[in-house]
Amino acid sequence: MSLLTHLECSKCGAIYEADRVQGICPRCGKPLLARYDLERASSLLDKEALRSRVPTLWRYRELLPVRDDRYIISLGEGWTPLLRAERLGDHLGLRDLWIKDEGLNPTGTFKARGLSVAVSRALELGVRRLAMPSAGNAAAALAAYGA
Ligand SMILES: [Zn+2]
Repeated sequence: MSLLTHLECSKCGAIYEADRVQGICPRCGKPLLARYDLERASSLLDKEALRSRVPTLWRYRELLPVRDDRYIISLGEGWTPLLRAERLGDHLGLRDLWIKDEGLNPTGTFKARGLSVAVSRALELGVRRLAMPSAGNAAAALAAYGA
């Protein structure tokens, strides 16, 4: 169950309904941010309950926008490893440096995370054609999840 409450403009703060297709803010043209009932999330979610869930980003589904699990499109994104980077850390003067290897996501980049969520939500809202500006990685992820 998603705890999505509304969409909010990242610049002007205008509020929009979350259960209909929205683009950018009609007032100022800036991106809209998904907002959630975080108070309710803090009462519903605890570390123990999360540990028993699927090892993908969908583990945190209350804080993702898809309301009905039937619309989730997942290729196993997320749950990528953290790798200790001791020598790079020494070089940079950082004592305990770790790097998340997002190249192990299904489309080879972290873009798999966002596009899994975006395409799932678009499907749930009835969208059947998708396009986006991209230098490459996001478009590849969109194509994978769209297919
Ligand atoms: Zn705005």
